[in-house]
Amino acid sequence: MIGITPLDAWIADQAQIGRGLTGSSWLDALRQYQLRKLNETIDHARRSSPFYRDRLASLPQAPLGTLAEFAGLPFTSASDLAGNPASFLSVSQDDIARVVTLRSSGSTGPAKRLFFTEADLESTVDFFHHGMSTLVRPGQMVMIFLPGESPDSVGDLLARGLRRMKVPSVAYGPVVDPSHAVAAAISFGAHCIVGIPTQILALARSPTGAAIGHGRIESVLLSTDYVPRALAKTLQEIWGCRVFTHYGMTEMGLGGGVECEALAGYHLREGDLYFEVIDRETGAVCADGELGEVVFTTLTRKGMPLIRYRTGDVARIIAEPCPCGSALRRMEQVRGRWSGAVRLAADCILTLPELDEALFALPGLLDYRVSVSKTRSGRFRLLIEVKTGEGSGLDVGAILRALDGVEAIRIAVAGQKLVLPGVRFRAGGPWAGNGVAKRQIVALSDTLA
Ligand SMILES: [Zn+2]
Repeated sequence: MIGITPLDAWIADQAQIGRGLTGSSWLDALRQYQLRKLNETIDHARRSSPFYRDRLASLPQAPLGTLAEFAGLPFTSASDLAGNPASFLSVSQDDIARVVTLRSSGSTGPAKRLFFTEADLESTVDFFHHGMSTLVRPGQMVMIFLPGESPDSVGDLLARGLRRMKVPSVAYGPVVDPSHAVAAAISFGAHCIVGIPTQILALARSPTGAAIGHGRIESVLLSTDYVPRALAKTLQEIWGCRVFTHYGMTEMGLGGGVECEALAGYHLREGDLYFEVIDRETGAVCADGELGEVVFTTLTRKGMPLIRYRTGDVARIIAEPCPCGSALRRMEQVRGRWSGAVRLAADCILTLPELDEALFALPGLLDYRVSVSKTRSGRFRLLIEVKTGEGSGLDVGAILRALDGVEAIRIAVAGQKLVLPGVRFRAGGPWAGNGVAKRQIVALSDTLA
């Protein structure tokens, strides 16, 4: 029996949806609430944020009558945000409780900054509280391998949410030494582990992590980056646990959506965020089931409302109702980002998720990095740097065979567009940085599209 997502009752309460309503009338009530909140957000942003005062200047003053009208509003891009973050500020500086600065990895461009009020942070804690009740019961323990040192960091907000359901937790921080991290989780008696996909894989594939076996870790929540299926499957096999995924980014107020027990796509935080999936070329809203770019609008945020913010993430809305019985929509697991793809030939695009599915399935592989450059003859060259566990037995041949299973690589090599990938092994130990930055294919040449 699959339990209904706890987000169902939480959102019904937030949107004050009548108790008797079910199915499509329940959803209609949610859409009415969202339309009302969208109008409030537009009004607040226009009055208080210099950016939106300008951007929405030509919009009629009257409130929107339908969600279809909302789809006519302009988008907000990441570069709008990086260009002048302070122009998004919609309350006085004194009312800001936390500022988060985001620098994309390897980028020297201007950083994005996000401003949150106390009430904005409380809304995230509330989401974590309800979302986590899918994974743990009162009295169980959670080990959090996310940054949690400073007050109001993601680990701290999650720990506060868990405390409300009588679940003790430790915010350990990102994993640097997998054996130490595993030992800490075991001595704490963790039933549930929350962390970054490749870091949790490194835990499970470390000798102490693998020795935990089945029955001890009941659930894992993978967050911060999109999750390769091969990686989730490996964790299930090693620990016999359920692997849930969470979708979120700082711009969303960290939390965006979480899977229910059906493990079949995220239910979204629809009381606080309005999600759309759009056609990347035309900007039109996609029909349910169509793959496009995820766009969201904040419904309740005071410090820094965002309207139709383009995430760059690729996903689709699942049209069919969830097996858990909720009327809430689901979003299929994010498939990576548009910006992460490399066009090797006219009809041949290589994406990080394709590489992930091939490489994370290899026993002993902990993490890898891929960069792409061009040879003098104009062909592409891929360099794969592989990190393995001690005595993994992985060799270049195994990696090349796995890469040959990636359709884009096979086609590009056969068509003489790509030379055979180079493979370099790297001893254990962390990459530079704490692993929280989003993974991507690194382009080493400015000739790449
Ligand atoms: Zn569900």
